[in-house]
Amino acid sequence: MNNSRVVYDSNDSSVLTSIKTQPQKSVVLTFDDGPSSVLDSILDVLKEENVPATFFWQSRLLYESRPWKRVLEEGHQIGTHSTKHVNLTNLSYEEQYKDLAQSVAKIEAITRNKVVYFRPPFGQYNAHTLSAAKALNLVPVMWRISSMDWELKNNPDQIISYVIDHIEDGAIILLHELQQTLEALPTLIKTIKSMGYTFRNL
Ligand SMILES: [Zn+2]
Repeated sequence: MNNSRVVYDSNDSSVLTSIKTQPQKSVVLTFDDGPSSVLDSILDVLKEENVPATFFWQSRLLYESRPWKRVLEEGHQIGTHSTKHVNLTNLSYEEQYKDLAQSVAKIEAITRNKVVYFRPPFGQYNAHTLSAAKALNLVPVMWRISSMDWELKNNPDQIISYVIDHIEDGAIILLHELQQTLEALPTLIKTIKSMGYTFRNL
């Protein structure tokens, strides 16, 4: 495994990869690609551990019946991960703007909660993406540490190792709403806590 795939470096100051956290060391958990069938179980773990998180949702997967209310009531944030997860860099500026605007409109219509944060599908973006996000008052969010969880279906322990081995103050951590991530989550949170970190929202 190439280490550079786990740790992400951005040259673009308009894209968040970490947060400033003085005085207490803290990190941010982010979950992409939901709302999924394991969302409720992820929320159970976060509640048990009293940890906030940010969810980046594909708006096509969001319906009134999903537990979006619980997400907000329990102190988490909901951002957009586009309408249906196409690689935005293959689209024109107008197409990217339209996709993001539609995703925000749907999430806001259902949750009645303002969408502030945006994570590009596949972590891929270009100058048009950043312009479209700016025009929509969205803050682009990447990550500092990738758990690589989507590749680790049969190895939840490795998800924990990737994160713990690269943990640092202020890090935004990339996770997904997946079964293996759910399995790793309690130990992951407990281990990070044992290293003196707290958890924050963006
Ligand atoms: Zn995604």
